[in-house]
Amino acid sequence: MSHNAFDFVIVGAGIVGLTVADVLMGRFANSRIAVLDKEAKPALHASGRNSGVMHCGIYYGSDTLKARVCSVGARRMQAFALENGIAYSRSGKVILATSEEQLSTIERLLKNARDNGISAERIDQHQLHEIEPYAAIGPAAIHCPDTAVIDGLAVVEHLYRRLEKHGVRFFFNCRMTGLRGKGQINTSQGLIHYGFLYNCAGAHADTVAKSFGLAECYALVPFKGIYWKLSANANSRVRANIYPVPDVSLPFLGVHLTRVINGDVYVGPTAIPAFGRENYGKFQWTPFSEAAGIAIELMQMYMRNESNFRTLAHTELAKYWKKNFLAAARRLVPSLEGEDMIPTSKVGIRPQLVNTRTRTLEMDYIILRGEDSLHVLNAISPALTSSFAFSQIIVDTGCEIPAWGTLSG
Ligand SMILES: Cc1cc2nc3c(=O)[nH]c(=O)nc-3n(C[C@H](O)[C@H](O)[C@H](O)COP(=O)(O)OP(=O)(O)OC[C@H]3O[C@@H](n4cnc5c(N)ncnc54)[C@H](O)[C@@H]3O)c2cc1C
Repeated sequence: MSHNAFDFVIVGAGIVGLTVADVLMGRFANSRIAVLDKEAKPALHASGRNSGVMHCGIYYGSDTLKARVCSVGARRMQAFALENGIAYSRSGKVILATSEEQLSTIERLLKNARDNGISAERIDQHQLHEIEPYAAIGPAAIHCPDTAVIDGLAVVEHLYRRLEKHGVRFFFNCRMTGLRGKGQINTSQGLIHYGFLYNCAGAHADTVAKSFGLAECYALVPFKGIYWKLSANANSRVRANIYPVPDVSLPFLGVHLTRVINGDVYVGPTAIPAFGRENYGKFQWTPFSEAAGIAIELMQMYMRNESNFRTLAHTELAKYWKKNFLAAARRLVPSLEGEDMIPTSKVGIRPQLVNTRTRTLEMDYIILRGEDSLHVLNAISPALTSSFAFSQIIVDTGCEIPAWGTLSG
């Protein structure tokens, strides 16, 4: 058997790929597992560039995969954190309605909470003031006590070390470039044989899936999330997490304020349409074919105004200007002024899928099964929170015994 032959190959060393490797390792003790990533270390993309919030699951209807895995995933990640001495804080969150029109969404969120068995209650102005003294007073507010923040990079680091210790092989700087034949992929480090392949390639998962003849009805549109930070003077005006009522027709939660685990308070992220899957800077180079494909997709969405895209594009692009960003933050904490917000280099990209048949943004995770492969698409928020439960479903879905190999368990 070739030196580079494995029972399981996982493409992508983000939180989804690592937790999938962890489930496989636990279930098939003697199997040969490899994780490849095109970068030099794990979590250089979405898994290392997020808000670090463990969501409670209030945003997701009970019929969604997100609802199935969000709160369970959060509990498991907290247990993992406890076991490994990783910092997390169950600091809670308030969701603020700032207009009467948002009251129906407040009701919908509370119904989700009931359906999904999540703690959440409507609170009055007095209670809100007790929890977040500087929060805007509006027509309604919800308190979610189970929302938490975590050092997500520490989770990744511990998982990575545990996997490596138990014999999982990591190939870094190793890009999967295509499918060679049955059970064989081409990579930038040569041919790799696999029994079963899990595609957890995040912003490139659709491209990898397409090389297996899958995901033809999906296109990817990246949305850039930029963050600001509160200055030392303003930091104490946010105790935990202050969120707006989201537009439930969109997969974004809106600019919010989050006290992360080191005590800094981040404001963001935006959801600005971007022209590259890794277009973190303003003028970052993106391969022409990738930028052109995304530009066409964005143009179509703009022209057709799908999912209210025109309004989204205008309001989000405007947030490149500080005064518009500040205005979004002030809807939640009205006392904030320009000097209270300082720029940061923190930026992430959400790899959002568009269904090219229905012309809608996909709201839920998508799992596609091939003959000897499984593809995790649209692993957008809350995939960090969900990962420890989502990975189990991914493995369950993929895991009929591979075509060859030395599996046990
Ligand atoms: C701004 C922002 C804020 C967010 N906030 C939260 C939050 O507060 N809470 C929450 O739960 N979720 C949040 N999320 C979502 C969460 O971060 C992601 O859903 C999650 O990290 C996805 O993990 P992943 O492993 O699928 O992807 P990634 O972390 O992107 O990992 C994919 C990996 O695949 C590798 N790869 C890609 N193509 C190839 C290839 N061809 N060959 C080899 N390797 C390849 C990449 O290098 C990358 O390392 C946020 C996301 C963003 C962008």
